[in-house]
Amino acid sequence: MARTVLVTGGNRGIGLAIAQAFAKQGDRVAVTHRGSGVGDGDLFGVQCDITDAAAVDAAFTAVEAELGPVEVLVANAGITDDTLLMRMSEEQFSSVVDTNLTGAFRCAKRAATKMVRARWGRMIFISSVVGLYGSPGQVNYAASKAGLVGVARSITRELGSRNITANVVAPGFIETDMTAALPDERKAEYRKAIPAGRFATPDEVAGVVTWLAGDTAGYVSGAVIPVDGGLGMGH
Ligand code: NDP
Repeated sequence: MARTVLVTGGNRGIGLAIAQAFAKQGDRVAVTHRGSGVGDGDLFGVQCDITDAAAVDAAFTAVEAELGPVEVLVANAGITDDTLLMRMSEEQFSSVVDTNLTGAFRCAKRAATKMVRARWGRMIFISSVVGLYGSPGQVNYAASKAGLVGVARSITRELGSRNITANVVAPGFIETDMTAALPDERKAEYRKAIPAGRFATPDEVAGVVTWLAGDTAGYVSGAVIPVDGGLGMGH
């Protein structure tokens, strides 16, 4: 059955791969962007900065008018602003949390009303292996990504009886603009630590997300699903 899907930050990277995977299986797919537009004609683009609650509300309203109520929310948009704890400003901490964690909350809250009314919904939060594993220089990012676990599990307890699931996908190292910025020596070190011995492609995250949104995953909720080649095992 075709669903209406909204992927935040779906104009590039992991978000774009997720959006295209849903479109390929016949869903109606909207993506947010921050002014770049969307290069894929199968996707309905809406401009939205998820740090702005009014912009989130307007984006959902636009998607509802064009494609119908959002049945599957993929909260994917995220940023990093790395530096060591002792150098990290409060602004660096709060801006990353405001985007990655509060931004996901804004979208989930806006999506929930319609999902409750429909008595069906899927929320998928794109976290990171770093959320539970920790990472030097990423106190802000790790805190925001760990917070998504509490969000998904609390939504599961609040809305689970309404046929709404909320899950977390925790990618390891995926080849996108975000990891392209890493120095080559750091990448080589990371590859050594990953049991799979390689980074993943965005499509390998997308496959897990489309599965979670489908009918066969209806009894999976509050889960944290790693897509990390074994890097975070045990966390
Ligand atoms: P990219 O940096 O390639 O893309 C980030 C996306 O988020 C862009 O679409 C960007 O929009 C959007 N975005 C950022 N801030 C905002 C905002 N305030 N409002 C709306 N959209 C925003 O990242 P990836 O594709 O690599 O990452 C996607 C998600 O996966 C992120 O949450 C990231 O933390 C997570 N992740 C990535 C990993 C990796 O190895 N790449 C590993 C683990 C998790 P714009 O184009 O306008 O900047």
